Order: sequence, then structure tokens, then C-alpha cells
Amino acid sequence: MLTAAGGAPPEPGAAREGLPLTDADHQLVAAAIEVLDRHYRPFWHMVAAAIRSRDGRIWTGVHLGATVGRLSVCAEAVALGRAVLEGDGTIHTAVAVRHPKPDETDREMAVVSPCGACREMIVDFSPEALVIMKGPDGLLKLPARVLLPQPYRR
Ligand SMILES: [Zn+2]
Repeated sequence: MLTAAGGAPPEPGAAREGLPLTDADHQLVAAAIEVLDRHYRPFWHMVAAAIRSRDGRIWTGVHLGATVGRLSVCAEAVALGRAVLEGDGTIHTAVAVRHPKPDETDREMAVVSPCGACREMIVDFSPEALVIMKGPDGLLKLPARVLLPQPYRR
């Protein structure tokens, strides 16, 4: 039988369907929006992330654009770097938001799901981490392992 994240037990059904956001989760989303509001710069900083570590502290980061596109660094990686250097390096819950593009009529920042590389990184650092995403009826929270059923293994 295949199990996610190196033998961890399968998630309960409710977690696979998505968990409701708590007040702390809404604060995490607000932290990501706040940092992007302050640091948004077209091309250079278009996405922000916020990570709540297991000790309850929040670490934010912004996406780092690069002239050579593949050298760009995701906001989640920047936030995690801060959590590692200044905190306990764990991820209890993570969220990313993107700024509207200049030509978009909807000017709200939107929660976006982590890219595949960030899903790998989140599971590497905290296999039990939760990720806030858009669901069919609003925001929900999913275990990172559900988003990455077959992580890369060396
Ligand atoms: Zn990413």
C-alpha cells in the first residue's frame, strides 16, 4: 500500500475535503495581504506568502522576480527561510496571495495554491503542514500531503 510522505498515515476524509478556516487562519491570510500591499512591485514582487509556525508565530515573504525567469524565488521559500532563521522552522499552516495584474478589473488580492515545487518544500519541512486554498465555496484548508500524494524521494 502506498502512503503519503514516507509512510505517514492517510488523512481522514474530512481533511481531504478541506477544513474550515479558524480565526488564526484568517489572520494568516491578512498577514500575507498586508505584506503584499506594502511590497507589491510589478514583476518583482507579485505574490506574498505567510507561514504560521507550530509555535504560533507568523513569517511572511514575497516572491522575488528575476530577469532570468527560472531564477525567481517563490514567496513561500522566502517566508520559510525567515521561519528557519528567526523561528522554529516549522510550518503549521501556509498561504499565498497574488496581487491583481495591472489590466485586471478585479482589484482584490486572491489566495493562490502553492506551485509544485513549493508543495515539495512544504512537505519536506513539515509533512503535517496545512495549506489554505480556494475551494468551490470559499477558502478552505488542506493537508499539504493531500496536494502532493507522491512526493519526490531521493
Ligand atoms: Zn512556489
